[in-house]
Amino acid sequence: MHAFVELLQVRGYSERLLINEPMANHTTIRVGGPADWMLVVTRLDEMIELVGLSRKAGIPAMVVGGGSNILVADKGIRGFVIINRCEAIEMPTAGTLECEAGVPIKAASRYAIERGWEGLEWACGVPGTVGGAVVGNAGAYGGCIADNLAWADLLHTDGRIECASAAQLEFSYRSSVLKRVPSLERPLVLRCAFNLKPGDTAELERRAQSYTRQRTERIPSEPSAGSVFKRTLQFPAGFLVEQCGLKGYQVGGAQVSKLHANVVINTGNASAADVAQVINHMRRQVWENHGLQLELEIEFVGDWPAEPDTRSTK
Ligand SMILES: Cc1cc2nc3c(=O)[nH]c(=O)nc-3n(C[C@H](O)[C@H](O)[C@H](O)COP(=O)(O)OP(=O)(O)OC[C@H]3O[C@@H](n4cnc5c(N)ncnc54)[C@H](O)[C@@H]3O)c2cc1C
Repeated sequence: MHAFVELLQVRGYSERLLINEPMANHTTIRVGGPADWMLVVTRLDEMIELVGLSRKAGIPAMVVGGGSNILVADKGIRGFVIINRCEAIEMPTAGTLECEAGVPIKAASRYAIERGWEGLEWACGVPGTVGGAVVGNAGAYGGCIADNLAWADLLHTDGRIECASAAQLEFSYRSSVLKRVPSLERPLVLRCAFNLKPGDTAELERRAQSYTRQRTERIPSEPSAGSVFKRTLQFPAGFLVEQCGLKGYQVGGAQVSKLHANVVINTGNASAADVAQVINHMRRQVWENHGLQLELEIEFVGDWPAEPDTRSTK
């Protein structure tokens, strides 16, 4: 038996341990090969212990929240995947929303709106967890995580827990200091807090409904990982891809959405390699037709062949 599995057994985790679990079951685009080991975790103390055990066994560990911003290789992930379902949320003092990183960002948004606190309405329809949103500085409709984040508790790979300020997280457009670290070496976001302003619930609800309507019209309903590329300084990436005539472009089961050209959908039986080929084609065509280099917003994770142009995220 592998030393890591023995450690997990001693600590009573073996019944919940998933071995060779397909990541396709844990990503919104429904592709991705097996993770060597996986556990679904609902308590922070378990999360901290499990990261310690993986470190002791020399096994790299990563957290997946909603799996809505990753493309996992067909060969899967060599290491330990923790699915974060730590979902406590509270407002201990007026205007400060504190939550664990496994809270769906939509739920955090709703919690704030219903209590009349402004600042997270933009997130009312964004898939995924607060942790994933902090890593990628998620945003929509003019708002983003960096606008309101007060602090985040980080668990470093050496076991240290640090309360990092927003400044320390070095947020930039759809990125942070955390996103710039490879996923299997990255500190984990355990909890975080947002500073919110008093607002009028009816007005916040109205705003949220308008965002939801716009999202229904613009975002494909098929499985996807959301926007593939970041917007460039001049143009939205989808506009550039569309100008190349790529809407509907397909390799295997992966297709450039006919509704939104910056989204690649899984039409039913896509492999991660299909999706990567479509993405590379989009990038090449935009470079050849517009002379602009698109930068990935989604993150390639796991055991990919060494193709630098599919893997870089900044
Ligand atoms: C239909 C659709 C619409 C979308 N719309 C938007 C949008 O409007 N705006 C936007 O910004 N994004 C959007 N996205 C992308 C995605 O929803 C966001 O990026 C989301 O914040 C990702 O969260 P997640 O929990 O799913 O992250 P995951 O995909 O699970 O993980 C992303 C990365 O973050 C890491 N990570 C996750 N949790 C933690 C943690 N607790 N600690 C450390 N690392 C962690 C993972 O290891 C991985 O490297 C959309 C996606 C889809 C599918």
